[in-house]
Amino acid sequence: MNQYHRAHRQSINERDEFWAAEAARIHWETPFTDVVDASRPPFSQWFVGGRTNLCFNAVDRWAKKQPEHTALIWHSTEVERENRYSYAELLAEVQAVAAGLVELGVGRGDRVLIYMPMIPEAVFTMLACARIGAVHSVVFGGFAAVSLANRIDDARPDVIVSADAGSRAGKILPYKPLLDDAIARSQHPPRAVVMVDRQLAAFQKVAGRDHDYAALRARHLGAEVPVAWLESSEPSYILYTSGTTGKPKGVQRDTGGYAVALATSMDYVFQCKAGDTFFCTSDIGWVVGHSYIVYGPLLSGMATVLYEGTPVRPDGAILWKLVEQERVNVLFSSPTAIRVLKKQDPALLSRHDVSSLRALYLAGEPLDEPTATWISQGLGKPVIDNYWQTESGWPILSAQPGIEQTPLKFGSPSFPVIGFDVRVFNESTGEELPAGEKGVVAIVPPLPPGALSTLWGDDQRFVDTYFSSIPNQQVYSTFDWGLVDKDGYWFILGRTDDVINVAGHRLGTREIEESISSHSNIAECAVVGIADALKGQVAVAFAVLKNTTVIESEAQRSAHEAEIMRQVDQQLGAVARPARVYFVTALPKTRSGKVLRRVIQAVCEGRAPGDVTTMEDPAALAQIQAAVG
Ligand code: ATP
Ligand code: MG
Repeated sequence: MNQYHRAHRQSINERDEFWAAEAARIHWETPFTDVVDASRPPFSQWFVGGRTNLCFNAVDRWAKKQPEHTALIWHSTEVERENRYSYAELLAEVQAVAAGLVELGVGRGDRVLIYMPMIPEAVFTMLACARIGAVHSVVFGGFAAVSLANRIDDARPDVIVSADAGSRAGKILPYKPLLDDAIARSQHPPRAVVMVDRQLAAFQKVAGRDHDYAALRARHLGAEVPVAWLESSEPSYILYTSGTTGKPKGVQRDTGGYAVALATSMDYVFQCKAGDTFFCTSDIGWVVGHSYIVYGPLLSGMATVLYEGTPVRPDGAILWKLVEQERVNVLFSSPTAIRVLKKQDPALLSRHDVSSLRALYLAGEPLDEPTATWISQGLGKPVIDNYWQTESGWPILSAQPGIEQTPLKFGSPSFPVIGFDVRVFNESTGEELPAGEKGVVAIVPPLPPGALSTLWGDDQRFVDTYFSSIPNQQVYSTFDWGLVDKDGYWFILGRTDDVINVAGHRLGTREIEESISSHSNIAECAVVGIADALKGQVAVAFAVLKNTTVIESEAQRSAHEAEIMRQVDQQLGAVARPARVYFVTALPKTRSGKVLRRVIQAVCEGRAPGDVTTMEDPAALAQIQAAVG
């Protein structure tokens, strides 16, 4: 692991030299004068004085160098369509939208909210904003009116770009009524709305406010729109966190640092180069979608696959079918998606030729060892767990095969990514902890390029939220609980909020979940700590059985429960044993697929569930309510 360690150490100890060299991966219209200005901690500004543009680097540069190469491949299993765009075509589409936005009066620093399904127009609009220096704020398509209204009021967009409808698992979800409702609720309604009409759901136009995307495009196709050369620290976008732990936070991203970070990650973390094909199954509404559907692959001259559909329709082999068809080199998905596949026939994993695939990257939630092993063996490919946040913009912990092929340890996202000075601290004393001890995972500032600059419109909340929680340390708290093992491998054990304290023993929810998941009949599970008069807290588990398992009687249920308890006893000891194991068919999750443990915990303790605006499936919560009575 020498090469990796050397590179990582250099990225921290010789930070300026390291990043100055990496910055050459992108085009600077005006060179920067300083690599980083960290004189006002915890804020940092990367590549001070440099002027660049995300769209130029992601599109124009390649449209000149490799105009005929594929840039964007769209597959929709929802509407049974596919489309592909070369870099030259992408540039034309982006300029048409950019000209349309300019016509609507959008300029540098103005916000454009994008509330769209997974269609190419969403990508064009993001890049068009970047081109003219407008700040985009993509809100997950299909979010309820209240969630959308909150984000409108926070970002205050001049223009909203949307579509008539999205489609999920064959069900049409009209967006326009949600959008109109959200605008009616907001204090800062946009001046204009641009609508893509997919002909999926008829909608009402508001005269004087609503515009037609196709008409705007037609008017401007062929236009040349000059690139706005932004100062490196000028914002590129606002993106809200998933809201797993409470009210979502509006992360503000810069321009130059983000471009350099993503281009660097494409090489070191993903081992990709121009001409490769990248398929990320996230949604453009999440950070993974921003960084690895849109900007990362395009900044590196690759082809990116945009997929509208689920991993199980028309069947559980669809991802592998797309990999085969598009000769995908790197697939990036989430543990949640793989756990869904785990409930399907394993034969689906070997139906297609996936020889083009080099590795599968997974992020978003802890990747339990049984799931990692299952998918890695099923595909015969390395599975790379990578840990990060909306805030970080790119992976914080990951194997970095582009630097060195280090052995993988399933259950661990390997090591700190170059540029991230990550450490473990004791939450209550602030003391830095040695290997083997559990604590809160934190990053020593300055945060590397690509990480958030601040929270939108609220520098104070940025400082208070992230830099004030660990005593005596001015470090960035991830609010995740973790440890480093004796070999230097990192483990994320759950959120600090979710740590369970049983009679003085502190356990990450993940530790117990991992043990339960290793049972052969369990597809996924969630563990929460609930108040207990005697022990302080006890663990309670909610488990989803694999499809093949049915519980028909109380005797069967309690046998299953006992078996799981016994397994936890054996693996972790009796302190970790859940007081109850409930069997449900779904867990309450955010729309980005994260288990809402705080909501489960509230229900178990008889409290109100709190902010559930980002929740995917209310029926899953109802099951929990019914289970605990
Ligand atoms: P909020 O901050 O609003 O509560 P959130 O933290 O879920 O929402 P995201 O930024 O989408 O919002 O998610 C980041 C979090 O996801 C991390 O802090 C961590 O808890 C979890 N996570 C992401 N990747 C991994 C991973 N590979 N292993 C373990 N946990 C992960
Ligand atoms: Mg978070």
